[in-house]
Amino acid sequence: MDRCTHYFGAGPAALPVEVKQQIQKDINQYADTGISILELSHRSEQFASIITSAQSLLRGLYAIPNNYQIIFMAGGATIQFDAVALNLVGDAKHASYLDTGFWSRKSADLASKYVDIKFVQGLKDSHEKISCIEPEEWDVDPETAYLHVTPNETVYGVEFIDLKKMNVPVVADLTSCILMQDIDISKYAVVYAGVQKSLGIAGLSVVIVRDDLVGRVSKKTPDLLRYDLHVKENSVVNTCPVFACYVTRLMLDWVARNGGIKIMAEQAKMRAKLLYQAIDANPKLVNNVCEKNRSVINVAFNSPDAQVIENLLAAAKRQGLIGLQGHRHVGGIRASMYNATPMSAVKKLAALIDAV
Ligand code: PMP
Repeated sequence: MDRCTHYFGAGPAALPVEVKQQIQKDINQYADTGISILELSHRSEQFASIITSAQSLLRGLYAIPNNYQIIFMAGGATIQFDAVALNLVGDAKHASYLDTGFWSRKSADLASKYVDIKFVQGLKDSHEKISCIEPEEWDVDPETAYLHVTPNETVYGVEFIDLKKMNVPVVADLTSCILMQDIDISKYAVVYAGVQKSLGIAGLSVVIVRDDLVGRVSKKTPDLLRYDLHVKENSVVNTCPVFACYVTRLMLDWVARNGGIKIMAEQAKMRAKLLYQAIDANPKLVNNVCEKNRSVINVAFNSPDAQVIENLLAAAKRQGLIGLQGHRHVGGIRASMYNATPMSAVKKLAALIDAV
């Protein structure tokens, strides 16, 4: 398979070559079944084993305690913005959302259909730099149903991974950092992620929910958004996305075989260090995130001179580095470097940044 091209897209994102090769084989015939993985029944024993092994791999990789359930649900992360509120608000009067940027605002916006939202100021602006996150300054109402956080903001490239101990249930959107950051799941009540970045392909989300929160669901919640039903039916509530679950299992297996989460997190740090060094050394380029909150996964930068960005994108394309355009709301360049991103591709990009 040709890997001359490297894809830095934010998601769907680059998959490891070995995973793509395995998929090709299994599209022809899956595990001696005589049929393709694309034809496999969601009620088959083979699919049951895909789900159970995905759950146990994820539990092992993150040392997820036994009082947490792991479920797979159709739809990406956005459907979880509704599902979180529908499953967790219970009798509470409001829910709190930490405002750290684009995705946290969108998650609050969707949840506001079901519950009053209290924003917690997450970003602290200062003269020189923006986007510092200071957890000790968060003001969270103890009566809140939950506090929702987005530890890696994919659009602006802002992250905060170490959560302090909170006295309210914390819900985290891990869409752009799952399997890439060493996260203590036991600090959270619920975590969820659309899997299309570092854990598979589009169309599926994974939810890890603590047992005591499973039964709070509002009665009018559609079945396909109910955590309790997914727990009861072990993620097979209807004809679920068999292929997407299968790719997720392959990705989990790939991460486990390649050293696990700590190694993935270490590699992410190394990739990001190289790129930020190149950006900081080039006076034509700016990254406005304060150093401790720079995402090691989504590196976003811009230039006051639009031509510089255009030249860099064109030079990158000539070298087979694609998917680097910034998010449509912010422009500039964004290099999304998930687990399948080779250091060689980052080195090529850093060299282009030096030269622009
Ligand atoms: N949350 C975060 C942090 C994201 O990065 C994204 C997608 N880029 C979403 C939510 C939305 O995901 P989806 O498109 O799967 O709904």
